[in-house]
Amino acid sequence: MPNKSKCPYCNATITRLNVEEIELERNPGGPWKGVSYACPVCRKILSVGPHPDAAKSGLLSQIQSLLESQSPKK
Ligand SMILES: [Zn+2]
Repeated sequence: MPNKSKCPYCNATITRLNVEEIELERNPGGPWKGVSYACPVCRKILSVGPHPDAAKSGLLSQIQSLLESQSPKK
């Protein structure tokens, strides 16, 4: 099936996006690691999201603290 997604800026057909690491400013507690998704033709950012590694490590630390809170303490 042909890809019909178009860039809203330059109207290029999008078959791939450039992913770049960025910092997401956040106060307090920031910055977070994030990634931007940009059109490879005009390089405008189409979307931004959490860095896959940061999402993974955040999930792992949440699981770990949940397990620790449920383990009996003496
Ligand atoms: Zn574009």
